Amino acid sequence: MIDIKENIRKVREELQQSVTLVAVSKFHSVREIETALEAGQVDFGESYVQELVAKHETLGDRVRWHMIGHLQTNKVRFIAPFIHMIQSVDSIRLVQEIDRQAGKCGRTIDCLLEVHVAMEESKTGWNIEDLILESERGTFAAYRNVRFRGVMGMASNTLDMERIEGDFRAIASCHDKLCGYFDDCFDIVSMGMSEDYKAAVRCGSTMVRVGSSIFGPRPMKHTAGQ
Ligand SMILES: *Cc1c(COP(=O)(O)O)cnc(C)c1O
Repeated sequence: MIDIKENIRKVREELQQSVTLVAVSKFHSVREIETALEAGQVDFGESYVQELVAKHETLGDRVRWHMIGHLQTNKVRFIAPFIHMIQSVDSIRLVQEIDRQAGKCGRTIDCLLEVHVAMEESKTGWNIEDLILESERGTFAAYRNVRFRGVMGMASNTLDMERIEGDFRAIASCHDKLCGYFDDCFDIVSMGMSEDYKAAVRCGSTMVRVGSSIFGPRPMKHTAGQ
């Protein structure tokens, strides 16, 4: 039996007060999210727009919804009215569209810049040099309806702890380098998942995204519906 409330308590116990716990609920049911809500958990992460919209329709704004999966520009409008934070911002085009849709809703949307440091090939996430270059150019200063809050990243999918910690340090150091180009609220380093959140916090994480350690293994879905 998976005891969601007990799992949340255990993960919290490992974290300092200053670290935000985002419970990653993708593929898990509204009922399971409600159980987590009863345990005082308010931040939840989802990876797919359709699933996120459906869950928001049921649970509404009792939840602070975080988009953590790859976001296509043509889907931004579905989440702009309610999303609490978009953690997976990986292109200027996406920033432009979030700014536009946030403006239409009369909102300012908190965003994290997703950086890619892991050894796996991936099309998502900025490489650090490009991100610093864009920041130097002032690219991110032009958007009134987007508030940049920090960076998000993932470590390599490996058991090599040194490599994992190296990746986390690279993400944290990227945040430090970018700080000067943003204002004081650029204070979030979102890194660490079920297998590695303790290492992430040692390396400077201020926000962890934990799924299976809270909700148990995810039901298998090979083609997660977007
Ligand atoms: C699924 C997911 C997580 C949570 O992973 P667990 O290993 O279940 O804790 C965290 N971050 C992102 C971006 C994810 O897609």
